[in-house]
Amino acid sequence: MRWDTPLQELPWVGPQRTRQLTRFGLLTLGDLVSHFPKRWEDRNRFDRFPQTESDTPVCVMGMVQSAAVQRRGRARSFELRLVEEQSHALAGQITVRWFNLYWIEKVVATGMRLVVYGKPKRRGRQIVLEQPEFEVLEDDSSASLHLQRIVPIHRATEGLSTRVLRGVIWETLQRLESVALPNLIPSTLDPMARLEALRQIHFPDSFEDLSRARKHLVLNEFFGMQLSIALRRAEQQAQPGLCHAKTSRLVEQLHSSLPFSLTGAQLRTIEEIRSDMASGRPMNRLLHGDVGSGKTLVALSTMLLAVEAGFQAALMAPTQILAEQHYLQFKRLCAPLGIRVGLRTGNRKEESGPLPLFDHDRWQQAVVSGSADRPAATPSSEQPDIIVGTHALLYGKGNLDRLGLAVIDEQHKFGVLQRATLRAQGVCPDMLVMTATPIPRTLTMSLYGDLDVSTLDELPKGRGKIVTVARDSSKLPEAAKFLREHLEAGRQAYIVYPLIDASDKLEAKAAASEFERWQGLLAPMPCALLHGRIPPEEKDAIMEQFRQGTTKALIATTVIEVGIDVPNANLMLIENAERFGLAQLHQLRGRVGRGVHKSYCVLLTGAKEQEAMEKLQILERTSNGFDIAEADWDLRGPGDLLGTAQSGLPPLRIGSLVRDAELMMQARGAAFVIIEQDPKLEEPRHQIFRTLLQTIPTENLSQVS
Ligand code: ADP
Ligand code: MG
Repeated sequence: MRWDTPLQELPWVGPQRTRQLTRFGLLTLGDLVSHFPKRWEDRNRFDRFPQTESDTPVCVMGMVQSAAVQRRGRARSFELRLVEEQSHALAGQITVRWFNLYWIEKVVATGMRLVVYGKPKRRGRQIVLEQPEFEVLEDDSSASLHLQRIVPIHRATEGLSTRVLRGVIWETLQRLESVALPNLIPSTLDPMARLEALRQIHFPDSFEDLSRARKHLVLNEFFGMQLSIALRRAEQQAQPGLCHAKTSRLVEQLHSSLPFSLTGAQLRTIEEIRSDMASGRPMNRLLHGDVGSGKTLVALSTMLLAVEAGFQAALMAPTQILAEQHYLQFKRLCAPLGIRVGLRTGNRKEESGPLPLFDHDRWQQAVVSGSADRPAATPSSEQPDIIVGTHALLYGKGNLDRLGLAVIDEQHKFGVLQRATLRAQGVCPDMLVMTATPIPRTLTMSLYGDLDVSTLDELPKGRGKIVTVARDSSKLPEAAKFLREHLEAGRQAYIVYPLIDASDKLEAKAAASEFERWQGLLAPMPCALLHGRIPPEEKDAIMEQFRQGTTKALIATTVIEVGIDVPNANLMLIENAERFGLAQLHQLRGRVGRGVHKSYCVLLTGAKEQEAMEKLQILERTSNGFDIAEADWDLRGPGDLLGTAQSGLPPLRIGSLVRDAELMMQARGAAFVIIEQDPKLEEPRHQIFRTLLQTIPTENLSQVS
């Protein structure tokens, strides 16, 4: 019997159960015993029958006195009257009710003993448990498994009850005695035996044992994850790298041409990146900085380092608009330095032409043999040194042969594969990924665990403040008046309306009517409309007119969410703000507050619920990206925090990235120590960890290489 023994080979499971379990996604012994309970019930004592409504669920045991189907209008329900077992005049009673769960009618009947778990609700004069979880108690030989102990409640399904699952898992754990079930984590990390932990997680002797067991299994899970991250990192570091930075004349020129001086944080991160690039190891670095912290300039500076060392540098942005904005800015800043900038997007190629056909093979050989640290040929002056683009960068042919540095802007908008593809374009290019998503530390350790992290923790000085106000949508006329006054004073505004996942037709229609409405509200100020379906050339023209100030208000979808930088625009109004996540609103809001003028962000909500307003008020109170991320995390969970494009989060069976930060640190420490001593995990005493790696799904771990 092994961890991956198929259920069919376990005689006590039997063919029928095996089929049910397989349908449920449990295929092997390992799957079965790591199907951890979702909660536990202490059935040594049950709750009293509730007399009042409450938000805390109760767990009661009683006898079914009557059971009947009830109809009220079109609603059909199945109702029980449950009474306390010691029947006497004062015995408690409660109504239990299920809607549309017909199978329950077949398994519950008068006279049965039931354990019921749910929140008591008041319905008229009655206290009712609606749609509760339940279990029929039977007086058979296995009764001791289901009563008078802490009982596990496993996630179950129709036709495969918790009770049945509990039985099968119990049986399996009993037989596991004979199996060699070695510990997969160093005993210094946690001394508990794995078999013991598995038994106690399902059938704990006490709540204390339960928490010890959980700790062991969480560490087991996290250690596996961190070990695979550490291995990948070691692998990356062992790859041949090139020195992509030498002198910094161009960077100095760039900086002295700017009308402002760089922030301390910008200078520090440029230096961190430079020393990575100058080393012979490949760089994998995350540049993390709140909206408006000036990441673009850090990127451009480091790209110039690569150019000066004889390489090309590329920057990939998630949208066409953003790529073009970067392109224009880079072109302006680089022209005096004699550096050529090219643009490559799906729709436009400007000055990109055919990139240097380089003696790729010869160079690669030189790299491998270690004799080359720069290309053997210098590029013809016709070719861009810096290339800005969208995904289209990935699909050009052989044009990034001299790529020495690849920068990905707003990396959370890209998938893992796209990063890998970009890297594959050059020969060992250094990678810099940038994001404004402030992420809690556990998440950084899991998602970007193999990256070095630089943080821009300082905003440029002299920024106008952003005043944020959340209002009910009935205040729209006042808000419009407020906007118009500012526009008349020469400022510019973004008006954002949500359109999530609309079809082409709907989007066009909604956009057109939104636009008309706003044009009316802001008349006579010139407005423009921007959304995802507008053809690229038109988009360019629209953005350009807005940048130049000809257009005063831009009515847009979230296409403007990331990166857009128009300092004179100091107003933003977001309609139906409650439909966005806080982190996304924070990003959007980051479009204003870029110039010297005081900025305003007005959040309008049509939602009637108090909660929606409370959520938005978080943004009124704070402009700290980290605080907002944590609040968002609490409200919506990590997936949403990272955006929908790619969460890259590993599926966890038991650990929680929110609650188990401390355990993640411990696991990471232990894993990195081991890989430092034995980067390829070759030593015999470490072979056991390979077994662990086989049990975790690694393909979901994010990576940059
Ligand atoms: P983000 O980090 O959100 O990408 P950007 O790179 O777009 O931010 O920078 C926001 C704005 O701040 C730009 O207009 C940029 O020119 C300006 N900026 C960058 N660095 C500084 C600085 N050190 N001092 C003043 N303004 C700066
Ligand atoms: Mg940016």
